[in-house]
Amino acid sequence: MSKVRTRYAPSPTGKMHVGNLRSALYEFLIAKHAGGDFMLRIEDTDQERFVEGATDIIYRTLDSAGLKHDEGPDKDGGFGPYIQSERMKSGIYMEYAKKLVERGEAYYCFCDKERLDSLKTEIVEGKEIMMYDKHCLSLSKEEVEAKLASGVPFVIRQNIPNEGTTTFHDELYGDISVENAELDDMVLIKSDGYPTYNFANVVDDHTMNITHVVRGNEYLSSAPKYQRLYDAFGWESPVYIHLPLITDENHKKLSKRSGHASFEDLIAQGFLTEAVVNYIALLGWSPEDNREIFTLDELIEEFDYHRISKSPAVFDIVKLKWMNGEYLKAMDFDKFYEMARPYLQEGITKDYNLEKIAAMVKTRIEIFPDIADHIDFFERVPEYDISMYAHKKMKTTPETSLEVLRELLPILEGQDDYSNDALYETLSKYVTDKGCKNGYVMWPVRTAVSGKQMTPGGATEIMEVLGKEESLARLRAAIAKLEAGQESSL
Ligand code: GLU
Repeated sequence: MSKVRTRYAPSPTGKMHVGNLRSALYEFLIAKHAGGDFMLRIEDTDQERFVEGATDIIYRTLDSAGLKHDEGPDKDGGFGPYIQSERMKSGIYMEYAKKLVERGEAYYCFCDKERLDSLKTEIVEGKEIMMYDKHCLSLSKEEVEAKLASGVPFVIRQNIPNEGTTTFHDELYGDISVENAELDDMVLIKSDGYPTYNFANVVDDHTMNITHVVRGNEYLSSAPKYQRLYDAFGWESPVYIHLPLITDENHKKLSKRSGHASFEDLIAQGFLTEAVVNYIALLGWSPEDNREIFTLDELIEEFDYHRISKSPAVFDIVKLKWMNGEYLKAMDFDKFYEMARPYLQEGITKDYNLEKIAAMVKTRIEIFPDIADHIDFFERVPEYDISMYAHKKMKTTPETSLEVLRELLPILEGQDDYSNDALYETLSKYVTDKGCKNGYVMWPVRTAVSGKQMTPGGATEIMEVLGKEESLARLRAAIAKLEAGQESSL
């Protein structure tokens, strides 16, 4: 068997969307799983759609996602050039198009815009498609040569017979047969001399020895035309894998509007690259067991393209968040702290030990921007109602809380060691002396120092970060608040 060679072949037309990244990832995994080569080819023959800077985004994204290419514009592997506009300079596409003309599989077409505009159009998949009427196929060889010699602009079209069917094979969809009459004589070489994407793609995949092609299923309808080109050249077609659509939660096509469609947007929203890559791998593929967390190396090991599903994949941001949270929990603390620090610094201006706060939030957040909500009380105690002191399970009320806080205040005023351990010991001793449950004391203390029902750490962990002065100030303020509450209810 020949060496597995896959390619990611983006057109530099903008951001790299989740769907693009999935194609690239699957191509990468198929190659690496089989010990083959993954290649990057830039398909820039459609000069009108070219977007400045889009190629940089492609490099950046592949690089940060860890999808290292073995060959590409920046890494020659003997099959270059790897940019179609560069490849074109050797005349390769024209040369192959002429071969098809010689075989009667393609023909020159000199029809001008006016004539083309007058042709009938059909609505195919919601798009208006013009079916060329083969007008120029009837030109004699001499007529064609005379027109070429006098410089009449031309395109070269694929010649698809009106009768019969064309069958191609897709790994997910099986054999698909299409009536030839439904296939348009598509343009292979445009009037500006550039090949169309459809033609360059076939010539390049063959001449670059590509064995597997993964692309979105929006290309399914063009696949029979590609198949005819392979057959016309007598080439073996690659294994086709047309991936199912990715939809949003409402089963609509994932779009920029849904706000989370591009890789860079997701990273900007605070998602980790590894989690995004892991999540995208599962958008249409699943392993034999129910496992969900994979490093890239593990994906390489496990990825079997026969297990790609053809049902639409739903991009579920809630699931992605969950997965991101799993990555954060598993992350080495130093790395976590380094990445969390900007978010901590944004929320906390006081001179607190951010490392300790980072340790508190690490297992509680799903993405870094969640940090803000968890740490806001360090800056200042939010407005809260004293009913928060009432907790059924802890058997506390505002009254019991006031009593506990009043009794604890002098003890805590007399203590200098405000480490978590020392504070915990003090409160535990008080609990024992009082003969009550832990929560009976911890709940009011934590409420007093945080003003929140949920905090990333326990009462004493929070007090350790706040330090003696601030902790006492908050306890005193809480006592005053509870006293005022009691008075007003008299
Ligand atoms: N250049 C095409 C695109 O960006 C690639 C499709 C394919 O992989 O064949 O959509």
